[in-house]
Amino acid sequence: MERDRDKNRKILEKIRGIEIHEYKSGLSVEEAERLYGVKAIKLASNENPYGPTPKVYDALRNFSFFNVYPKEIPELKQALADYLGVEESRIVLGAGSDGVMDSIFKMFVDKGDEVIIPIPTFSYYHTLSSIYSARVINVERREDFGIDVDAILNAVSNKTKLIFICSPNNPTGNSERFEDVKAIVESVDCAVFIDEAYAEFADENLLKLSDYENVIISRTFSKAFGLANLRIGYAVMDEELVKYYKAVSPPFPVSTIAQLCALQCLGDLEYMRDCVEKIKAERERLFRELKKRGIKAFPSQANFLFTKSPIKASEFVLELIKRGVIVRDCSNFLGCDEFSVRVSVGKPEENDAFLRALDDLLANL
Ligand SMILES: *Cc1c(COP(=O)(O)O)cnc(C)c1O
Repeated sequence: MERDRDKNRKILEKIRGIEIHEYKSGLSVEEAERLYGVKAIKLASNENPYGPTPKVYDALRNFSFFNVYPKEIPELKQALADYLGVEESRIVLGAGSDGVMDSIFKMFVDKGDEVIIPIPTFSYYHTLSSIYSARVINVERREDFGIDVDAILNAVSNKTKLIFICSPNNPTGNSERFEDVKAIVESVDCAVFIDEAYAEFADENLLKLSDYENVIISRTFSKAFGLANLRIGYAVMDEELVKYYKAVSPPFPVSTIAQLCALQCLGDLEYMRDCVEKIKAERERLFRELKKRGIKAFPSQANFLFTKSPIKASEFVLELIKRGVIVRDCSNFLGCDEFSVRVSVGKPEENDAFLRALDDLLANL
């Protein structure tokens, strides 16, 4: 099987003249059990450990139209418009924000076009760039992981079609300054894609910038709202862009049930905010506990911490899995060094399990 896959990929690359950077998700609980025989806790995909509001389960129980193709639920767009404070006509849905991004590439990027990506960041931007045969211009971040505005503007050419800004940034956890992103948006003719998958965990957001006609801001129900498995995300953009988005979007990108569940989430913001508060409190506790142990962690505006492991990240992550905790090795992320590790913030007892595993690992170094 593996050999066939390799062969197929070689053929595809030959035809298209590109190398595909396949998106690799973290190790699952099932894989860890199969490979290492441990029942592990997963702190590697930035999911909401509390799950969605219980109201979601009511929506699921009461749904009976599985045989019918999905349609858009107008109430969801209205609820999103209220939640965000933007016009309904500027909101689009997608199969997760990943699905939104795919449509954005379809809209803007042709073979040979350029895409600017500040690194390190979310690797799916690179995956899509390779799929759409774009040339990626990677721009290193500053020491504090903030974007380097001058370097980004210097990288812009007449072939640049998209600039990616992830805020808070995955995997580094920092938010971008409003003025920095605004400076970019105002200086360029191309589209600026702002990925706010973690906005609910941050003190500030960049949503106001969606008033610019070259800005697309994506959000998701996968992280703070706890619906990662239902694949529903959305974006805010200029009305003119909405038309093109709809034109390139697949016919039924989001199931009705996913939309109904998202609507339940927006109807119970208190639940989401309660989860966010618990996670933020734990994020700060984990930060302090890591520091106590001499492990460098960076301040985070998201539901994860970016850390530097005391041994190579690949070994560190492996040793933690053997001790029952899965965290994310980021050493293969473009722009990360070999000691880069990302830890999702879990429930208090999960974070305690991580700290115990870490103490055991450190004691055996
Ligand atoms: C998790 C994540 C996504 C993917 O979100 P979905 O809505 O589940 O597709 C997008 N961007 C970033 C930065 C993420 O970390």
